Amino acid sequence: MTERPFTTTDAGIPAPSDEFSLSVGPNGPLLLQDHYVIQKMAQFNRERVPERVVHAKGGGAYGVLRITEDVSQYTKASLFQKGKETDLFLRFSSVAGELGSPDTQRDPRGFAIKFYTEEGNYDLVGNNTPIFFIRDPSKFSDFIHSQKRRADTNLRDHNMQWDFWTLSPESAHQVTFLMTDRGTPKSWRHMHGFGSHTFLWYNAAGEKFWVKYHFKTDQGIENFTDAEAGAVIAQDADHHIRDLHTAIRNGDHPSWTVNVQIMPFAAAADYRFNPFDLTKVWPHADYPEITIGRLTLDRNPENYFAEVEQAAFEPANLVPGIGASPDKMLQGRLFSYPDTHRYRIGANYLQLPVNRPKAPVRSYNKDGAMRYSNPGDPVYAPNTAGGPAADPAFFAGESYQVAGEIIRSAYQRHAEDDDFVQPRALWENVLSDTDREHLVSNIVGHASAPEVTADMKKRVVEYWTNVHKDLGQGVANGLGVAWR
Ligand code: NDP
Repeated sequence: MTERPFTTTDAGIPAPSDEFSLSVGPNGPLLLQDHYVIQKMAQFNRERVPERVVHAKGGGAYGVLRITEDVSQYTKASLFQKGKETDLFLRFSSVAGELGSPDTQRDPRGFAIKFYTEEGNYDLVGNNTPIFFIRDPSKFSDFIHSQKRRADTNLRDHNMQWDFWTLSPESAHQVTFLMTDRGTPKSWRHMHGFGSHTFLWYNAAGEKFWVKYHFKTDQGIENFTDAEAGAVIAQDADHHIRDLHTAIRNGDHPSWTVNVQIMPFAAAADYRFNPFDLTKVWPHADYPEITIGRLTLDRNPENYFAEVEQAAFEPANLVPGIGASPDKMLQGRLFSYPDTHRYRIGANYLQLPVNRPKAPVRSYNKDGAMRYSNPGDPVYAPNTAGGPAADPAFFAGESYQVAGEIIRSAYQRHAEDDDFVQPRALWENVLSDTDREHLVSNIVGHASAPEVTADMKKRVVEYWTNVHKDLGQGVANGLGVAWR
């Protein structure tokens, strides 16, 4: 038998026993002085951090971004320079389900990337769809509440989901994606990723562009039908985590071709769609995709809790050469992501190995719970003691002018802005006959849940009729609702 190392307390003291608590005689009461057992029980009680309110269930892997094309005319960001290789961590997730929820439920999937660049962490926190359900962050918590559980029964409720969606017509594009078979991807390897928001890029000369990111799966798109996804739920709730881990362990490293769409800065003002509206894409005929490189995942995490559960992504991590856009959802997320990490993991979450930048950290922030390393003196800026000093030149180019009345309002309409025109294009021009059939049957299945009322079914039909009359009619037939 090989010699085993001895167990210790968390302070490294040899443990007295793996089996027996300290008691007064073999049958007697236990003693408070058994520090080892008390430490075990107390630590166990504290094993969970709060699960993420959204994107709770997920998995992830490490990898690399390789840039193959020259886009220095658009951005000076070091990670996007030709020939550059940047380490990264990518976390996939589903949105609405809790930590133990089945991976193959119908849901958008998160596609969150942390690039460990030499200019600090760049986080791109996207999804497997290029769009989202809403366009103003003031509706986000309401939207998520409608997708999660009722207050009275603690059950998810399709009536509540359709109530929110049908009262929020801007959701139609994303709900169309969700109800196609792309709402039940076969694996995380077989779906695209999208940065979804519009971001600002600026080059070394200070010229500005708007950009959208597309990560196109090199494995090819593969989806489950609704019935197949349901069957997998019954067999393996962790199907997607298992698939990714197994593929990488077997040396079958998944990759995505990295494409961008670039819009000249000045073109945004009178583009036919509001280019910052998260419920819209930029049609390819206007802004074709340009390939800039490849993203490959090649290493599994070794400790799920430490590296996946505590991975903390924040769209506010923008490196020189990349900035925020006026997308209102992005603006909301710039605040809400770091805020949730401070609550969920603690103020010093950026010092954990998975979150720690590979670039040196020289801020004047200090102290707080679980701080691992602290800056020395001086502890303030400005100072005459030779401490670090900001160099605004890094961000030269990111500024632009905005002016207007302070107001609560919808986005100003651009010429072709309409909530249904893009999902209609998807139905009319992109989906195959089979895709359309499945879209109708997936909607009908979802809206046939027993809790969905007769009145709600009529609203569901109206919603889909606004996308396309054939789609509305198909849904009406399936739900047994009189059509028009
Ligand atoms: P295009 O015909 O140029 O592009 C259609 C896009 O749809 C391609 O990116 C295609 O990429 C993707 N697609 C194909 N099948 C499906 C499907 N079943 N579900 C979702 N997406 C699919 O047209 P436009 O750029 O003019 O866009 C038309 C519509 O296509 C949009 O209104 C939008 O709904 C959808 N779309 C557009 C995207 C964009 O960025 N312009 C991105 C994704 C979808 P692939 O086959 O590789 O997935």
